[in-house]
Amino acid sequence: MSKSIIIAGPCAVESREQLFATAQELCSLWDFNDLKLNYFRAGVWKPRSEPGSFSGIGTEALSYLQELQQQLNLSVCVEVGSPEQLDLCEKYDIKVVWIGSRTAVNPFDVQEIACAAQGRDLTVLVKNPIISDLKLWSGNVERFLKAGVKEVISVHRGFADGSENVYRNTPGWDLAIDFKVRFPHIPLLCDPSHIAGDRQYIAQLSQLALDYGFDGLMIETHIQPEIALSDAGQQLRPAELIGLLHRLNFKNPISSPAEIELSKQRNLINNIDTQISVLLKKRMMIVDTIAKIKFEHNLPVVQPEQWQKVVARYFENSLEDNEYQDFLNGFLELLHQSSIKRQRK
Ligand code: PEP
Ligand code: MN
Repeated sequence: MSKSIIIAGPCAVESREQLFATAQELCSLWDFNDLKLNYFRAGVWKPRSEPGSFSGIGTEALSYLQELQQQLNLSVCVEVGSPEQLDLCEKYDIKVVWIGSRTAVNPFDVQEIACAAQGRDLTVLVKNPIISDLKLWSGNVERFLKAGVKEVISVHRGFADGSENVYRNTPGWDLAIDFKVRFPHIPLLCDPSHIAGDRQYIAQLSQLALDYGFDGLMIETHIQPEIALSDAGQQLRPAELIGLLHRLNFKNPISSPAEIELSKQRNLINNIDTQISVLLKKRMMIVDTIAKIKFEHNLPVVQPEQWQKVVARYFENSLEDNEYQDFLNGFLELLHQSSIKRQRK
């Protein structure tokens, strides 16, 4: 029997139709014996970076969610960013809320919500703050525990640290694992949707989280992701989510520190390889554009001084050892030959 906690549902409620279509499809396709859809997620108020972006339909969504809970026997969770929003959730029978990563950076806001949560029948999911600060994250969890909230769950959604990455956010697995060590009794879920920002990476991130012993997943799911009003690139269709959950290995989390470390390093390599492959393709496409310009203006294909600058740029970032420099020379030779061949074509 898998004890994993699964949360799925759209980034945001956009309309009654979109909400019910997503939830109904999820429920009708759900064919697991040992996996429950513990909570159906849906944003009501969306904290967006830019004003004017879709920011949720607010209270109207709460009434649809209340109806959905009754009709489909689902437990719904929404994001709250203030005590007033908590009051509104209570009014519409929503008993599971999450603290978003942007709210989570402000202890004033989190404390106000924690105080307002006191004495209510609530489950609170605490997402990691968008900046990688373990104390801030664990402090937020403590605020809700101190307020006597009966069930506190934590959600790892990665960090916006601006580092080079194929994902929208840096996973920061180390920090999440440290969190788990500090709070062994608080379930820790992974939200691969907001780490990835792109649906193609959700499977690998989900498996990695399960391998690290996470207690479940929160995955954005939309009936028609391509027309979603927020986070369109990262949402899965219900059938895709079901397929993914079937493929994931929920058993056998890795336990030895060496294996965990190896797996983290491999993920970093995968990330870099994806970047290299995307950049190489882009480079070749630029070579084709250059070839066209040279052809139209009758310029020579091979311009040795230009190539020397390219070589120098690579050697600026070279490791000191001969082995690496041999590799770099071989690689650059290949790159140059291929570039000349394309241009002559
Ligand atoms: C969300 O879950 O839709 C969301 C906005 O998440 P985060 O706070 O992690 O960005
Ligand atoms: Mn989202």
